[in-house]
Parts: sequence; structure tokens; C-alpha cells
Amino acid sequence: MTIDIQKIRADFPILHTLVNGKPLVYLDNAATTQKPQIVIDTIVDYYSRYNSNIHRGTHHLSNLATEAHEAARKTVQRYINAEHTHEIIFTRGTTESINLVAYAFGEAFINPGDEIIFTMMEHHSNFVPWQMMCERRGVKYHVVPFDTQGDLRLDIFENLLNERTRLVAFNHVSNALGTINPAQRIIQMAHAAGAVVLLDAAQAVQHVDHDVRALDADFYVFSGHKIYGPTGIGILYGKEALLDAIPPYQGGGEMIEQVTVEKTTYNKLPFKFEAGTPNIVGAIGLAAAIDYLDALNFDEVMAHEDAVLAYGHKKLLEIEGLKIYGNAKRHTSIIPFNIEGVHHYDLGTLLDTRGVAVRTGHHCTQPIMTALGVEGTVRASLALYNNHEDIDVLVESIRQVLKILGR
Ligand code: PMP
Repeated sequence: MTIDIQKIRADFPILHTLVNGKPLVYLDNAATTQKPQIVIDTIVDYYSRYNSNIHRGTHHLSNLATEAHEAARKTVQRYINAEHTHEIIFTRGTTESINLVAYAFGEAFINPGDEIIFTMMEHHSNFVPWQMMCERRGVKYHVVPFDTQGDLRLDIFENLLNERTRLVAFNHVSNALGTINPAQRIIQMAHAAGAVVLLDAAQAVQHVDHDVRALDADFYVFSGHKIYGPTGIGILYGKEALLDAIPPYQGGGEMIEQVTVEKTTYNKLPFKFEAGTPNIVGAIGLAAAIDYLDALNFDEVMAHEDAVLAYGHKKLLEIEGLKIYGNAKRHTSIIPFNIEGVHHYDLGTLLDTRGVAVRTGHHCTQPIMTALGVEGTVRASLALYNNHEDIDVLVESIRQVLKILGR
């Protein structure tokens, strides 16, 4: 059986709308993905039938909401193959998950004289929190560069690892280059040096392997809105022993066991890290998105995305003066490019007048742009519903724009 893209496209209502009078061609999926009808319906159903705060009420609605929220946690556990449900912490998104670890792990385990390592290929969300933590804790960080193909320099990484390395943070897939990093190998190398690893899976969990136990990631983070779910919900997975060992990040709400004037004791996992009323509908909507994706054959989804990606590379390179950045050994879903003599922002804006949505700029990866020697790029990024026609429209629209620009 091969994946039925027409049927999948029919599930996403926004794909059938017009933008500037033209059928929408949505190629900004690395920024956020569109939502299938089942996710939209699930959100409406929650607010229509059982909206309530969770874990506290004795009443019917509260019980329904609590059950659905905790079932969502199980859905995430199953999808990423975590050992325990309580290893799944709901957060606002990847950024909050990383900040949580940078703060809590930093407080508990990082001391002056220690070192951490992250890479030149990180989103600012996996770069800045570590710089902040290093400043707070008085420790040194190293940044692993990438080569001209967009592959991490693992030889340099190996040399940077030493007995002082406490933590290694890197992304599984780069949002600006599309590189699929050899996560298992990097994690093995880090573990051999005794370091704990945080894997940023914001661009990976929906496109490539996402089995946290096979990867052996200590912390694994992603955002709901990039995997066809709602905004404002994300995941921090952590191995039980680590989550148990680190202190809470924020106080209040469900994270307490007992509060007295003298002292507060903390709730067990996962609630220890979930202060305040959580994004209940976000968690339930995320589970609906994961169930939707899980009902498809993931190998076929990946094969389809790879075929569209390869077609995109081929067709775009036929445009004179167009340069694609990064050609890593393994890459997925993201095509970053520039056209000689055309500002990326102008190209993006003119493509929008044709209904084509791409992203332009530095993509929250200024160190990557610096390494590439550019101010920004145009980025076309794919999701499972993109097809060969989307690429054809993109390429044809670029040709029209170039004509307008007199090129
Ligand atoms: N890491 C990567 C690799 C990303 O692509 C993004 C989002 N572009 C983030 C982190 C941050 O995700 P969020 O804004 O959802 O917190």
C-alpha cells in the first residue's frame, strides 16, 4: 500500500483555502505545521463537552478532562517509546523544555570547572539557554562546528569531550539545514565520556526515527505545533532517574506534595515539573495529532517526504543562480536557498503574492548564517501533505518573480 496524499490533503482544511486569490501552497512547515480536521474537532469537542480544570475536581467534567489529559500523556509515551508515562512532562514547547533542563539540571549537576558542549547547528532555543546557564553556573561551553556539506564535525566533537563534560545538547534535525545528525552515534560518544545528552527533536519527531530508548537520549524535547498539533504544548521526556534527581523549575499548582509555612515538599513525577494549570486542551489536541500520524505508515510517510524533497532539490537547482545550502549525508524536509542578486526577503514577499508560503531570514539560527556567510536564506520546508505539484508551483512562481525583477 502506498500513502494516499490526496486523502491526506483532504484532512487539512487550510490547504484548500486561497491566499492572495491563489490556492495556498504551504511550505513553511518547519515553522509550524497545519492541523488535520481531527485535531480541530478534538479541540472544539473539549471546549464544547468537557472543559474543566484537572486533577482537582471531584465532578464529572473534571474527571473527563483529567482522564483525557492523562491519556494524552500515554499517547506521547507510546509514540516515542518511553519506558514510563511519568517520564513525559508537558511544557509549552521545545523552548520551555530546554530552558527547564538548562535551569534544573544546571542547578543540580553543573558546577564551576565543568564543561558542556552544544553545536553551531542549533536553533537559538538550544543555544541561548545553555549560554545563560553557563554564565549562571560559571562554566565553560564548547560549540561543535559543521563542515561545508552541513555535517557536524564529529572529529572535533570527539576531541572536545573529556571527563569534565557534564552535558551535550544537539538537534536531531537542523531547522536551517535539514541535516539529520547521527544521533545514536553522538549520544554513544557523549555517554562514553560520562555526559548526559539532551536531544532537540523539534524537527525530527515528525520526520525521522523517534524511539527515545533506541536513541538512548537522556532528555528528548519537541513541540506539538510542529507535529500537526496545537501551539502552546510541548514535551520534555527525561529518563526517570534524571527527572527524579533534578529540582523543580517553577513552583505552584500541582507540583507540590505539601506546603507549610516552614517548607514545601514536592509532588512525584511528572507533576513535579507541571506547575500551574497546564494547557489541557493542548495536550489532548497533541494526542489527536499523534494518533493521526500514527495511523499512517511512517515508513511510507518518510519515503513520500524524501521523494518530494529530492524532486524539490532537482527542480530548484534548474533555476539559474540558485544555490541550496547544506547537502549533508542524510537530510530531510528542508530546502534552504538563495538566488544570486535577489534578497531573500523580497523573494519571500513576492512568492506570498502567489499564494506560496516560505520562510525567509535567519530562522533563529544566526550562528549557522554566520558560518554560511549569509544574512539569511529562503527556506522551503515540507510536511507529509506536500506533493510534487507544490514544488512545481514554487518553482514556477520563482521564475515569474525573477521575471518581474528583470532577471
Ligand atoms: N529547536 C528547533 C530545531 C526548532 O526548529 C525550533 C522551532 N523552529 C525550536 C527548537 C523551538 O521550538 P518552539 O518555538 O516551538 O519552542
